[in-house]
Amino acid sequence: MSKVRIYTLAKELGVDNHKMLEILDGLGVAYKSVSSTIEEDTVELIKQIVAEEGASVTGGEVAETPAAAPDPAAVAPAAEQREKPAPVPVVEPAPSQMPIEGQPTEAEPVPTEAAPAAPAPAAPAKEIPHRAPVVTIMGHVDHGKTSLLDYIRHTRVAAKEAGGITQHVGAFEAKTSKGKIVFIDTPGHEAFTTIRARGANVADIAIIVIAADDSLMPQTREAIAHAQAAKVPMIVAINKVDLPQADPEKVKTDLTQLNLVPEEYGGDLIVVPVSAKTGEGVEDLLEYISLTAELEDLRADPKGNFGGVIIEGKVDKQAGVLATVMVQEGTLHVGDFLVVGENYGKIKAMTDSNGGRIKEAGPSTPVQILGFSEVPSSGEKVQSAKNEHAAREVIAQRVDVRRDEEDARERRKAQRSLEDIL
Ligand code: GDP
Ligand code: MG
Repeated sequence: MSKVRIYTLAKELGVDNHKMLEILDGLGVAYKSVSSTIEEDTVELIKQIVAEEGASVTGGEVAETPAAAPDPAAVAPAAEQREKPAPVPVVEPAPSQMPIEGQPTEAEPVPTEAAPAAPAPAAPAKEIPHRAPVVTIMGHVDHGKTSLLDYIRHTRVAAKEAGGITQHVGAFEAKTSKGKIVFIDTPGHEAFTTIRARGANVADIAIIVIAADDSLMPQTREAIAHAQAAKVPMIVAINKVDLPQADPEKVKTDLTQLNLVPEEYGGDLIVVPVSAKTGEGVEDLLEYISLTAELEDLRADPKGNFGGVIIEGKVDKQAGVLATVMVQEGTLHVGDFLVVGENYGKIKAMTDSNGGRIKEAGPSTPVQILGFSEVPSSGEKVQSAKNEHAAREVIAQRVDVRRDEEDARERRKAQRSLEDIL
């Protein structure tokens, strides 16, 4: 037995990745990511810790060091701690729930020194739920972006008949053993750059597709630069490994030149060889996406204020204006009023990425919406309004702001030409 990747060991031991990193932190073992490898000795140590901790390891605190483990008090409350290791609660209590002055503030019992350290307040701390990752696929032309998306879609999207028509929605949801992954189905830079240029980072993870027979090309570098600028984690898919002339090793070496060091060369870049033609490696790719998403700890509150982004807008000859919206926060309902730029609309109908009619949609759901009168453009932010009046008010304000800016610009221009004349 030799070096083992952290997530591999986590899987083998039935411990979640966050937990595994906690154990490593406790041991003072350095790692870059969950895909870093660890030494055999450490592996043995971890196995021991996990074995000693038994049931409690899937949940609560782990002893800092194996030496501290025997304290029965630290191991005992496994039952209450069986749930996930509670991440820091993101939501502050609402002001109304704050202790009122003059009243006893010890609403929650303060743990005494004797009590085992609880991983998080035992009170039902409202926690923002996880959401599915949104993934974009970028890379040089002809390196196989469309083919890869098609392969994933055909193998992973349960075909749902909605009157026989499946509209192109610009995004789709893939179901994997690790949960849902949302792919933005507009391969190429345009989607990514136009959306990002408007200040909306719609993707959580970027897949950079590089053909194994062609290696790094200008648009590959561009794609990498975009992902880096957006601070979006990257996964490299080396595609077309089925070709006889495929040379994945060259791709890895070339990546190293860009200071992107694949894991197997000691870096932390995840590189997955795939074939969009045979499907080889696609399963691994999906697994790596889930893994990366897990570490990103993506969350959104379905009960919060709605926030979303336009993925694409178009006019359908029969239906009229159709807009694909990615729900980022909150939940959309048929009948809601939405404001995009200086336009608003009322959701008349909503379909999911399979073309099925839906009444509501929560975070990380791409939906196609009927109800706008103007075609919204990619990357525009979408918000909701309580009613038509509120929607008009938001727009009136925006129009005012825009006019003021235009006036200011005109004045500056006039000033400049005056200076030129003088
Ligand atoms: P895109 O421009 O990046 O979207 O690339 P496409 O998906 O359109 O693929 C370009 C060409 O490469 C097409 O002829 C595909 O059939 C072919 N192709 C894509 N993926 C693979 C693969 O994994 N193996 C092989 N042999 N050909 C592939
Ligand atoms: Mg394409």
